[in-house]
Amino acid sequence: MKVLFDSLSRRLGSLLPGELLPSELPQLLSPARHSLLLDQRRATMIVNRVRLFALLFAVLTPLWAVIDIMVFDFALWSGLALFRLLASSAFVCLLLFYRPSGDLFDAYRAITLLFAIPTLFYVASHTLLGTHQLSEFSAAVATGYAFLPFVLMAGLAIFPLSLQENLALASLLLLAQGLAGYLGWSTLNWPSYAGGFWLLILIAGVTALASMSQLAFMITLVRQAIHDPLTGILSRGSAEEILDLHWACAQRNAAPLSLAFIDLDHFKAINDHFGHEAGDRTLCDFASHLQAQLRDSDSLLRWGGEEFLLVMPNTGLAQARLALQRLQQRRFGRRPDGQALTASIGLAERLHDHATDCRSLLELADRRMYLAKQGGRNQVCGHHAHSAWQPANLLEEREP
Ligand code: GH3
Ligand code: MG
Ligand code: MG
Repeated sequence: MKVLFDSLSRRLGSLLPGELLPSELPQLLSPARHSLLLDQRRATMIVNRVRLFALLFAVLTPLWAVIDIMVFDFALWSGLALFRLLASSAFVCLLLFYRPSGDLFDAYRAITLLFAIPTLFYVASHTLLGTHQLSEFSAAVATGYAFLPFVLMAGLAIFPLSLQENLALASLLLLAQGLAGYLGWSTLNWPSYAGGFWLLILIAGVTALASMSQLAFMITLVRQAIHDPLTGILSRGSAEEILDLHWACAQRNAAPLSLAFIDLDHFKAINDHFGHEAGDRTLCDFASHLQAQLRDSDSLLRWGGEEFLLVMPNTGLAQARLALQRLQQRRFGRRPDGQALTASIGLAERLHDHATDCRSLLELADRRMYLAKQGGRNQVCGHHAHSAWQPANLLEEREP
């Protein structure tokens, strides 16, 4: 039984997107465990695509009135043309007033608006067409209007969405289709309406798969772009985004934000005496050792070479000092000869250091790291106001 189950789960597992790590699979189902950086990049991509489609629809929607005028009488045509103009103006507004902000809720709103405009147009035009007797030829063109929900449902496939998000948006479209059926109750051709509804549900299923596979690619690309290939922790390429996010959040909540610049001591000697590979292993051990001891909300980045940046949101100077002191006492790992690996650390905190922007806070931490080196290495250099927390090997800042 167990063999059968294992073989089945292996076979099913091999059908899933191979580029994803097993731990990332739940991210395809719900956005709850997406990282801030993924949220931000996805929000930007969604809003950019919404704007592209708003532009296309703004141009194409009024153009179709040329076809309408050839087949419908003037009264019907003018009604439809008015709806087309209104829809086109709404698309133009969406294009003009929406810019990517990096906020996922803004992105959800943008998709909802993009789909709400043609859905309203569909319900209105469907109702209007139902009140007119149509000849064979004009009835054929009017049938084209009934295809709009299918186009919209298929259009969801252009967005990188999780299953949960996709289902929420698809249900809105199904609801609109239900509403259109309800409004045209008396004249409804039931078998073809039910067949159409079933087709819409099938398209929703295919669309959900397409959106999720887009999301899978995006998760992989973001992971590769923001992680350092050697140590697996965040890379310097993502530093600006991470710092900006934490800075904005700290500012909004008037919360503390601590940055620690960490430079390993005498690292070159490891390469010189034990080889570059041993140096690489020491860097990896250091990064995983440190990462394991940090809070979930902290971010550890490889700044370059043997330099690291630790971002500690909601952490005041005293707390940050204590945390670093604890890390120091537990050692940062071992050098290949078994001796303790040590680091010189520059610490700066947003509120205590009255930093006006993120860059100046970073520069301060960097400067203090050099002071820690000058002071004899293997120490933290921070602000003198918290000398009560100062361990024996903590250097006080000697800035003028
Ligand atoms: P200090 O205590 O003054 O910081 O001395 P240090 O030797 O750590 O500093 P220095 O800046 O002189 O040398 C840094 C060394 O880190 C030089 C370089 O060979 C090594 N390094 C940088 N990146 C890597 C890497 O990816 N792998 C390995 N193995 N070594 C690296
Ligand atoms: Mg260095
Ligand atoms: Mg060094």
